[in-house]
Amino acid sequence: MATLTTFVIVALLNPLLYSLLNASPSMASTLESGLLDCLEDNSVINYTTFTSSPQIYYNLLNFSIQNLRFAEPSTPMPYVIVLPSSNIQVQSVVVCSRRHGWLIRTRCGGHSYEGFSSTGDSPFVIIDLMRLNKVDVDVAEGTAWIGGGATLGETYYHIAKASKDRYGFSAGSCPTVGSGGHISGGGFGLLSRKFGLAADNILDALVVNADGLLLDKTTMGKDMFWAIRGGGGGSWGIVVAWKLRLADINGKVTVFQAKREGNETVMNLVREWQVVAHNLPKEFYLSATLAANSSHVIGVSFLGMYLGGVDDTVRIMRDQFRSLAIRKSICKEMPWIDSVLRFSGLPDGSTKEDLLNRFLVGKSFFKAKSDYVKVPLNASSLEGAIKYLEEEPSGTIILDPYGGKMDEFEEDHIAFPHRKGNLYGIQYIVNWQRQEDDYKYMNWIKRFYDYMEPYVSKSPREAYVNYLDMDLGAARNGTASVETARKWGKRYFKNNFDRLVTVKSHVDPHNVFRNPQGIPVDPKQVR
Ligand SMILES: Cc1cc2nc3c(=O)[nH]c(=O)nc-3n(C[C@H](O)[C@H](O)[C@H](O)COP(=O)(O)OP(=O)(O)OC[C@H]3O[C@@H](n4cnc5c(N)ncnc54)[C@H](O)[C@@H]3O)c2cc1C
Repeated sequence: MATLTTFVIVALLNPLLYSLLNASPSMASTLESGLLDCLEDNSVINYTTFTSSPQIYYNLLNFSIQNLRFAEPSTPMPYVIVLPSSNIQVQSVVVCSRRHGWLIRTRCGGHSYEGFSSTGDSPFVIIDLMRLNKVDVDVAEGTAWIGGGATLGETYYHIAKASKDRYGFSAGSCPTVGSGGHISGGGFGLLSRKFGLAADNILDALVVNADGLLLDKTTMGKDMFWAIRGGGGGSWGIVVAWKLRLADINGKVTVFQAKREGNETVMNLVREWQVVAHNLPKEFYLSATLAANSSHVIGVSFLGMYLGGVDDTVRIMRDQFRSLAIRKSICKEMPWIDSVLRFSGLPDGSTKEDLLNRFLVGKSFFKAKSDYVKVPLNASSLEGAIKYLEEEPSGTIILDPYGGKMDEFEEDHIAFPHRKGNLYGIQYIVNWQRQEDDYKYMNWIKRFYDYMEPYVSKSPREAYVNYLDMDLGAARNGTASVETARKWGKRYFKNNFDRLVTVKSHVDPHNVFRNPQGIPVDPKQVR
């Protein structure tokens, strides 16, 4: 964690903080006092400002920022970070922030790829939901209520424990990802081919709206309930609780990981994977992650999980993907929660209890992009993609198989639209360790993405809103016109974009919940 000295150096390099550090106490207090008085009048005292305690402020701010690009000295920082511990406190913070003209940034796990939960274009307050992380499991009903600040790790841990390994939940694999942002954008994971996205399994939600009212599924109405499931975090209100339909795992799962190396081997296996993975039984998840080693030799790692035993796993692979040559000896049966731990990215030797740790180990600077593939890449286009990876060993592509349950929902079932016809999703990601390398890596990923254009979905070239990408377009302070926002909105939401604009114009006409790629208000539709 940063020391006070580090904080002061960072603050001196940051114009916003610098001006506040040098402001007279009365100037700083004029800026803050309206908001702080309002919070205290409403019994919200669990907040921190950098003037009251720089070290606590700075530690808290950085605790949940996962992408170091948004912890750089030039990044705008909030005046206040509030940690509400009840729904009523969230309501009070919304009312006070709005009354005193502060932009709101809601933060759950802090994993936003473009820092939308931790940065702002105008003076802002972070409402960090980490204390709203309770998980209440109803084993008899096969459901759970979780706080809007719970992480996936907390959610998985408590579901497995309370149900004695009977139930799981379909969502992403990284335990420090927050349910707040993740479910709001869809939430794809190893169980999604069988059970759908996290957002497909939301039965109810409690949301604090722009007027500070607490709404449930009935009182928010069907349009808003539709929008909060896949329409992206930070546009609709603050989800303080989700009701989940749990995934009935009913037994053990089998997992394996198979790594192969060398240009020709990777080419052949990935070409075959493209036609196999989305056609496997729904119970089977088989992803392919491609990256080169430090000697620029390309490799692929196949990660498999089957909701069943080892013998069936090996049989299915032998029948449908013989050339991968999966042997019984590399397959392991285990309770679902152990598979979560295994694919969590946590260091070897971690225990299930480590899933409860909200701090992401091994942070880096990163940039990501996404695509959807509907027609398999042929040999020469795949060869070209592999060349980009061989050029840059810090870059990776993760190919996530679709099909199965993902094909069964209509595109407008919820706001997340990427359904039938997708063979797989691509996530491009590049990580680095020094700020001065920003340009090098951002430029590499842009070139790679440009190269891929002819081979991926078109009109629009689709993108996944949980893999936010500001290169698709953005509006300062979240005040884009509908036509401007259509540029990225169509790519994230396809034909659902227009309905999202209508819902936004009705439920948040003053655009209280906004961000650079948020859903815009259409003045003509405001009631
Ligand atoms: C290491 C890593 C692994 C990932 N793995 C996967 C994966 O396997 N599958 C997948 O689909 N995605 C994955 N993602 C992407 C992830 O789903 C998104 O980044 C998601 O938005 C993160 O949610 P968060 O709450 O952690 O982030 P935050 O930064 O806290 O929030 C993201 C956005 O949602 C808003 N928001 C947060 N909480 C709430 C709330 N309670 N109510 C309303 N709005 C809210 C924020 O204001 C912000 O705009 C991964 C990301 C990372 C960094």
